[in-house]
Amino acid sequence: MNWNELNKLPTPCYVIDEAKIIANGEILKNLQAKTGAKILLAQKAFSCYDLYPTIEPFLAGTEASGLFEARLGYEYLGHKEVHVFSAAYKANDFEEILKYAGHIVFNSPRQLALYGPKAKVLGKSIGLRINPECSTQDHAIYDPCAPGSRLGTTKAQWDEHMTPELISLLDGLHFHTLCEQKFEPLARTFKVVEEKWGKYLHKLKWINMGGGHYITHKDYELKALEDFLLYVRNTYDTQVYMEPGEAFVLNAGYLLTTVLDLPVNSETKLCIVDASGACHMPDVIEMPYTPPMVGAARPHEKEFTYRIGSQTCLAGDVVGEYSFDHPLVEGERLAFADMAYYTMCKSNTFNGMPLPSIYVAHANGSLELIKSFGYEDFKYRLGK
Ligand SMILES: *Cc1c(COP(=O)(O)O)cnc(C)c1O
Repeated sequence: MNWNELNKLPTPCYVIDEAKIIANGEILKNLQAKTGAKILLAQKAFSCYDLYPTIEPFLAGTEASGLFEARLGYEYLGHKEVHVFSAAYKANDFEEILKYAGHIVFNSPRQLALYGPKAKVLGKSIGLRINPECSTQDHAIYDPCAPGSRLGTTKAQWDEHMTPELISLLDGLHFHTLCEQKFEPLARTFKVVEEKWGKYLHKLKWINMGGGHYITHKDYELKALEDFLLYVRNTYDTQVYMEPGEAFVLNAGYLLTTVLDLPVNSETKLCIVDASGACHMPDVIEMPYTPPMVGAARPHEKEFTYRIGSQTCLAGDVVGEYSFDHPLVEGERLAFADMAYYTMCKSNTFNGMPLPSIYVAHANGSLELIKSFGYEDFKYRLGK
């Protein structure tokens, strides 16, 4: 990344780091080559389709959460597999999804009964999402195994509703229960899947282990994952799929912003920037978490600590506290890091905030503006 160049860009803007996407992709490609597993891009995390040609060599296809993502995957990577899962399909959407997706995963026996037979006749590969009810994380908002979850069919629901006819429609099973997790929670979850559904696994063409795998993280136990994927393939003679989103673009983006003001407050040093947690990195507020920042440390590790928040009038629109080895000044540039996933695809114009432009820092060193936004992008969703 050429920071001299980046520091000249108008803010706020996202910068996608193509070289890092390629580095992540090599890890995923290598894993597929070694294990025979197929890896799909979960588009809900990252769907900047201008980068799909960059990612293409590293994936077996795309995964969609519904009609629009399925269409995008089909339009830009249609020569690869298109998989779709939705908690419930609408009849009209489903007709169109049949044009785009080769693999269709249903959430409940009811939806499978409603749409499965027709999809099957059209030659689609059919799956059911199961809920192993094995919680391995503390963030209820990201835990499909949390009590009362609507995501996936539990074993009790399976036993009650999955008739032999419905079971015979199935080509595969799907589970997605992790979020930013390493190998051990996957192994623990799969043990439960084996206990509850093991006898079916032998008969199925595929098993999809969802996303949330931190595969490209520097501490991920890749060797253990490889052994595990080979074990599953050899034991059940089945095709394994994984569909990470984040892992494809981990550490592959920045959100550049400018210091606008440094209001004085008796207890805390404050800093207002032209980027917003609520609008441009909603997971900061929803999860919540504090993203890394280039050149900054955790509060009080360096001499000058600031609470950094946005221009919006939402009191809680604070990105976090950071420390610096110098006092901040107005006009200074700050760069939030690891900003490629769950950001551009989730950004919004609440408070009339502008959407950040999107740049790509190409692997060859060139910088390209792929999209900029203006007043119309705020206005057009709200009326005539
Ligand atoms: C969110 C999601 C993914 C991708 O999750 P990441 O945490 O981005 O890897 C994959 N599959 C399903 C069904 C999902 O809901």
